[in-house]
Amino acid sequence: LDEGPRSCLLRVRHRLEQDMKPSYIMDHMITDGVLTVDEEEKIRTRATRKDQAAALLELMLRKDNRTYISFYNALIKETYDDLASLLHADLPRTSPTAYKSFPDGYTPYVRTVLSEGGVPQRPVVFVSRPELLNRVREKLYQLQKEPGWVTIFGMAGSGKSVLAAEAARYHSLIEECFPGGIHWLSIGQLDKPDLLVKIQSLCFRLEQELDPQLHHRPPNSLDEAKERMRFLMLRRYPRSLLILDDIWDTSVLKAFDIQCRILLTTRNRSLVDSVSGAKYEVEVASGLDEKKGLEILALYTNRKMHGLPEEARSIVKECKGSPLVVSLIGALLKEKPDRWHYYLRQLQQKQFKRIRKSSSYDYDALDQAMAASIEVLPEEHRELYKDFTVLEKDIKVPAKVLSILWDLPIEEVEDILEEFANKSLLFMDTNNKPYLYYLHDLQLDFLIEQNRNEIESLHTKIVLQYQQYYRDGHPTSGDEECQYWIRFLTDHMAKANLTQELYSLMFSLDWVTVKSQVMSPAHLINDYIAHGPILDKENSDVRSQFQEFLSLNGHQLEHRPDVVQLALSEPLTSEVYRQARMQALQQSSRG
Ligand code: ADP
Repeated sequence: LDEGPRSCLLRVRHRLEQDMKPSYIMDHMITDGVLTVDEEEKIRTRATRKDQAAALLELMLRKDNRTYISFYNALIKETYDDLASLLHADLPRTSPTAYKSFPDGYTPYVRTVLSEGGVPQRPVVFVSRPELLNRVREKLYQLQKEPGWVTIFGMAGSGKSVLAAEAARYHSLIEECFPGGIHWLSIGQLDKPDLLVKIQSLCFRLEQELDPQLHHRPPNSLDEAKERMRFLMLRRYPRSLLILDDIWDTSVLKAFDIQCRILLTTRNRSLVDSVSGAKYEVEVASGLDEKKGLEILALYTNRKMHGLPEEARSIVKECKGSPLVVSLIGALLKEKPDRWHYYLRQLQQKQFKRIRKSSSYDYDALDQAMAASIEVLPEEHRELYKDFTVLEKDIKVPAKVLSILWDLPIEEVEDILEEFANKSLLFMDTNNKPYLYYLHDLQLDFLIEQNRNEIESLHTKIVLQYQQYYRDGHPTSGDEECQYWIRFLTDHMAKANLTQELYSLMFSLDWVTVKSQVMSPAHLINDYIAHGPILDKENSDVRSQFQEFLSLNGHQLEHRPDVVQLALSEPLTSEVYRQARMQALQQSSRG
């Protein structure tokens, strides 16, 4: 079977298994000579209709194109028109024309593929950048026949992620080059355990799509994760595209060096030097040109381009066409349409210059625009927005986390978040249900800089709010909210300088039990390493006892066993053992 039909079968197999009656289909296929009677009998021994369907599909994956065509015809004859239509596009030597009525190639099919792969939608106000876009797509077409890397590189906030998502939003590109699907992964600055978690969840997503019943053990180490991905991409998702957004570090790319097709965005052009395979690159050299910048302002303010005041041009020039900054100003003007001159002056005067540039960007204009956007918020929302300072970069949170942090009902929180999003102060990932919220990392840089004297107290606030809400015990549901807390609680404590809290949490077997249930042991071990210097001030022996316990039992902990039972095999002098014994005694006295 060619790659195209094979990946199509893999994609739609659940639908097929659900709906078709294999016995009728097989009759036709035997008549066509693509299935033997022996094979049919073997399939018929399966207990249920669904099992039989699954077995037939499994067999077809090992056969040739003729089988696929015969199968397709059989579906038509048995009037499974809707199922047949799923296979139609990948029939060998046919070229579908159905999508021609969608001029920009953004068909319902594209929408489904992108949403399944977690590709972000267009920003609410969006302008096309056809020249750049074509350059990216042209490179992506190079990946049709062989695996390789396409890099989009350029400054922060220059629109790389939006461009990457847009490039994939194109029917014939997906159909001709990536029928296996498009899978989006936001990376950002992260360390090894976080990278492992990202890959674990990617593998989980891909495996679930293939078979929701399947429960593979998550890969334990980066090497194992790499092998798992290699298998998935090669065997199960041939001809699919991985989009890795915002890569900082070569070690990340090395984990993906598995001979697949990758589009990545980065600020660092030379990252791909360290990996093998065909490489192509597109530079986003400058911001938007004047016309595009004006178009954004016009869209936000609901005016015609030629009806914009003369300040508009200067605003675009002042922020060097940065899409991020123009969008921030546009959102401001939408609310206060008579402030063109005022915002231009703010940008020019650099009166917020006192905000030191904290990291990797060189837009004074961003500081100006952010400060202005925050300034127009109602006082109480300004305070709430400040709380985002404590979020990690590239981490998306559900509204529930903020509802605990702000001690407000979830509906109210959602309204506030929508207001922030409308002002481009916050972004929403609506692919996920519940929605997830996040800031551009330049915006976080800005907040950290602006609130640098309050970092400790802001982290303290989030810890206290958590403790207040979960005074009866840590959450263990495993949903997004729970994951956030279990993953970041210790970091917040450390940054809040709440060392006492940190000791008692991390030197407790209960916490180990909860965290190993919700996250990987790799995360836990990393916590003990990352906070080692603080913990050692309290008791370095206990710290290493916990760390060793985890390092030695990491494998078993993946299987969610009884942590107390495992801990009872620790040396008698270990704190881990002492706590386990106490819990065991309590349990036995209770029951
Ligand atoms: P990068 O990935 O280079 O840091 P992004 O792609 O995240 O930058 O873009 C930053 C912001 O700029 C977006 O959230 C959006 O508000 C705005 N933006 C980027 N590209 C466009 C575009 N083509 N049209 C409108 N706004 C855009």
